[in-house]
Amino acid sequence: MTPDSDALNAIAKIPKVELHQHVDGSIPVTLTWELMREHGLNPVESLEDMERLLTLQPEEEGTLIRYLDKFHYPGWITQFYENITRVVETIVAEAVSHGVTALELRYSPVIHTFAGLTIRQAISAVLSGLNHAKDRFGVETGLIIIAMRHQGPHIAKILARQAIAEAQHLHSKAGVVGFDLAGAERGNPPRLFTEAYAIARAGGLGLTVHAGEDEGPECIWQAVDELGVTRIGHGCSAIRDPALVKRLAEDRVLVECCLTSNYHTGAVKKGQPHPILTFLEAGVPVAICTDNTTVSRTHQGRENALLAEHLPVAEIAAIHDRARAHSFIRDVRTTVAGSPLPR
Ligand SMILES: [Zn+2]
Repeated sequence: MTPDSDALNAIAKIPKVELHQHVDGSIPVTLTWELMREHGLNPVESLEDMERLLTLQPEEEGTLIRYLDKFHYPGWITQFYENITRVVETIVAEAVSHGVTALELRYSPVIHTFAGLTIRQAISAVLSGLNHAKDRFGVETGLIIIAMRHQGPHIAKILARQAIAEAQHLHSKAGVVGFDLAGAERGNPPRLFTEAYAIARAGGLGLTVHAGEDEGPECIWQAVDELGVTRIGHGCSAIRDPALVKRLAEDRVLVECCLTSNYHTGAVKKGQPHPILTFLEAGVPVAICTDNTTVSRTHQGRENALLAEHLPVAEIAAIHDRARAHSFIRDVRTTVAGSPLPR
């Protein structure tokens, strides 16, 4: 049932927790257009054409490859420190406008070093944007560092070490709070990255991984058993294995659910119910996440409204409340009295 205006107003007021949002796929179209022009880059003639390049079009829905294609152009402008800081501050401002009070952004620094930034500079450029945003809006933020699977386990280990150097618990301001793995799942199983995860864990970072988006439940088993993650990104295929669903519930492994994105990439087929409903029924902790607000033309309010077609608004508010206990951001987690820590 489509939520009525009372429900939409109530959704707007929920203090929201965003645990899975990528910088590269969330840069507003107008800002990308502006930065392209500032740098004399004109891949297309108009803002409308730019929008078509950056957002998934209806005829492009249903395959991961078309979805990932949308990350091509943002990479042209996010190679420079000030630009990275500016896009991050703008992304946080947008999230705040939709009621987000705790925001974990994620990003792979390696793909922002093509103009000469070091990995450390690529990380601190994001942190600088998060700090500006905190000063302006008082929102709690943290950065999750992503290792790209196709760059291999060695680069992942190097990244884990660089991420630790910028860890939140070593600094007074915004810092790195977590470690993640993303990119093509096929041919790159989680167990190849156990050493990188051991480094990140030893350095005090929260552990999550993109798994079960493009591959079966065995990848999620591996992520839990061999990487020791306390959260799973997407995890859609878990519902094909009831023993796995039970395990996620028992061990309080949270699934970062991204409704619109999952239909867009084909992780969930059009017309099928979203796995979040199965997870909720089974007592698996979940978070409602946007993944990529620009690519998927969405925001926290919209994702919550989609879920309100199936659940009462009070239950949606409770999901956000419970998700706080699983945040990798120390100050968000510790404000939840009596909740189990995610690690
Ligand atoms: Zn993602």
